Amino acid sequence: MRYSAFLIKYAEIGVKGKNRYIFEDQLLSRLKTALKRAEGSFKAVKSVGRIYVYCEGEYDYDEAVAAMSRVFGISSICPMVQLSDEGFDALRDKVIAFVGEAYDKKAFSFKVFARRTRKNYPLDSMQIAAQLGEALLASFPDLTVDVHAPEVSINVEIRDNEINLYSAVIPGPGGMPVGSNGTGMLLLSGGIDSPVAGWMCSKRGMELEAVYFHAPPYTSEQAKEKVVDLARIVAAYSGPIKLHIVNFTEIQMYIYQTCPHDELTIIMRRYMMRIAEQLARDDGCQALITGESIGQVASQTVQSLACTNAVCSMPVFRPLIAFDKMDIVALSEKIGAYETSILPYEDCCTIFVAKHPVTKPLLSAIEKSETKLGDMTEMTDRAINTAEVVWAK
Ligand code: ATP
Ligand code: MG
Repeated sequence: MRYSAFLIKYAEIGVKGKNRYIFEDQLLSRLKTALKRAEGSFKAVKSVGRIYVYCEGEYDYDEAVAAMSRVFGISSICPMVQLSDEGFDALRDKVIAFVGEAYDKKAFSFKVFARRTRKNYPLDSMQIAAQLGEALLASFPDLTVDVHAPEVSINVEIRDNEINLYSAVIPGPGGMPVGSNGTGMLLLSGGIDSPVAGWMCSKRGMELEAVYFHAPPYTSEQAKEKVVDLARIVAAYSGPIKLHIVNFTEIQMYIYQTCPHDELTIIMRRYMMRIAEQLARDDGCQALITGESIGQVASQTVQSLACTNAVCSMPVFRPLIAFDKMDIVALSEKIGAYETSILPYEDCCTIFVAKHPVTKPLLSAIEKSETKLGDMTEMTDRAINTAEVVWAK
């Protein structure tokens, strides 16, 4: 069956009052960009609380659906046929043809849902549904009507200028359109958690930038490529990500030589946050995003998180904070990041680590150890100024 258009339904953005058009326009723009990944020519338009995607000529249905399924803000995608009003008899014939084409086996239970926004249509919604139901039963004798739990819902919407006919409802990703809610700087490592954390904030409408700290030659080029790949995977949902790759070797070595080894990870994490925040400010981001989750490792106990958090004045979003690893893995698989995340390359957090890191660090003790480092401005500035930028899209 060739569907000539898609009806795009959106949930939460439908209730944003006077700002609604901003959300709709964002969604429309994201939708247009996403559809460029699919074979075919598409026209996405707004129409009174609705978005339609018209497919012009031949197109790849699966690619189009896959592309739209990654656009946050969409609650469902309904492949449809759009008709003009040529009277009820013509509509009835089209509905029969639609079911005839869309389903190979015409043996299922169904219900016709009819709605009309055009109140001067000669039949009311009940009459439309009843008459179309009867016509379908007469054409396909193995169909049955089930008004409570139909296997197939045949939707007929009579609107002012058009009639929409659809039955399949493909769930969208939900959330809010990217770009409707500021920009976050994601601390992206090569692990499982941070790509999921970025995806989650993006799902709530945030645009993303990212920063990755590497420690060459202790961390490899492959480890870096893996992070670029992860950024690309997230970017398929969030749109292009500006990824800053910061050389952390000098700072990390200096902390290793100067501070107690059991505090190394915490102090390192504090420098990552400081640098990430500076990059975020320079680029106009409003928040930092990390993949931290309570108790996952020594550097993520509540006391450790408090120490890491203390160096930031920007809000730090930790969407996975109360998630179990199992649930994070499930999301990672869902977004297609898991296979890449588990590739076995070293991370700069795993080199030079102490056998017994502190698990309940005291902020005052950490701050005292850090004073041994002296003024770090020059070193952190160097790390920032030599950062490599890669656009992941
Ligand atoms: P992940 O699976 O996201 O790597 P993790 O369980 O390995 O997390 P940590 O290594 O303690 O946990 O890192 C906690 C968070 O700190 C990460 O989720 C990420 O946001 C940030 N982070 C850690 N290492 C790096 C790095 N090398 N570059 C950028 N951010 C990092
Ligand atoms: Mg990690």
